[in-house]
Amino acid sequence: MSLSMWRYRRRAARLARSGEPVATRRRVLHPGFLVVLVATLTALAWQRGALEPVIGLAPPRAMVSVEGRLVSVPAPVEGAVRPRPPVPVTTSGSYAFLHEGPTGEPVGFDPCRPIRYVVRPDGAPAVGAQLVADSVAQIAAATGLTFVDAGLTSEEPDLERPLVQARYGDGWAPVLLAWSDETVHPELGGPTAGLGGASVVPGADGRSQFLAGGRVLLDGPDLTAILAGPDGYARARAVVVHELAHVVGLDHVDTPDELMAPVTGARTDLGQGDLAGLARVGQVACDGA
Ligand SMILES: [Zn+2]
Repeated sequence: MSLSMWRYRRRAARLARSGEPVATRRRVLHPGFLVVLVATLTALAWQRGALEPVIGLAPPRAMVSVEGRLVSVPAPVEGAVRPRPPVPVTTSGSYAFLHEGPTGEPVGFDPCRPIRYVVRPDGAPAVGAQLVADSVAQIAAATGLTFVDAGLTSEEPDLERPLVQARYGDGWAPVLLAWSDETVHPELGGPTAGLGGASVVPGADGRSQFLAGGRVLLDGPDLTAILAGPDGYARARAVVVHELAHVVGLDHVDTPDELMAPVTGARTDLGQGDLAGLARVGQVACDGA
């Protein structure tokens, strides 16, 4: 990720606004005339729908580096509101955030943009689609975030997946959920049944941070074995929910009674701390708010 282009542009815009021409005019024109002139120009521009270029307040867009080229951060929809209300924190327990802002607030997905997700079904157990749908529904309910099923994909679940991809159209790439095994992805070796996370990106104005993209890698053979055991479906779903909680910004906690413990235990549903943490990552302000 590179912010240098944005910083340069922001400085340039500020210099343009405080440049010489206005100061020069002030010496020859009555100050009252300038006020009237600016007001007139603003009114004319407003009528023509061209306000920003005339008064020079077009906000610069932050940029990120995608496969070596700079790409503008997808702009938030003007006046967008979150499709679902935030979830109040009503429980207490241990939780931690993977990414925090300067005052310790969580970095989360923009709650005003629906989070698209795609599934790479290769290697999935028979109940794979149901596991994913149920797990996404749990995270959506706990966070107040809106998820949209964007269908199936053939994208390889590489760790360094590009954040913007032509195959998915405009905007950030959707969250990718994919099945694999430790022969293809050695990071799934041993008892590791899944991995999950997302990328930190700047907001459209560059002042804030959000999560975008995201990947959940599920170990097909491990989860097939879990499914065959006692309480198999609930235990397998707990793995997928745990990884999706990483995607939306929760870190591990050392409390065995939470689903975000690094090693899954007897718990198969979200714990009190998990619920509090998920509510908080869903409460972040919208981009551009
Ligand atoms: Zn984990």
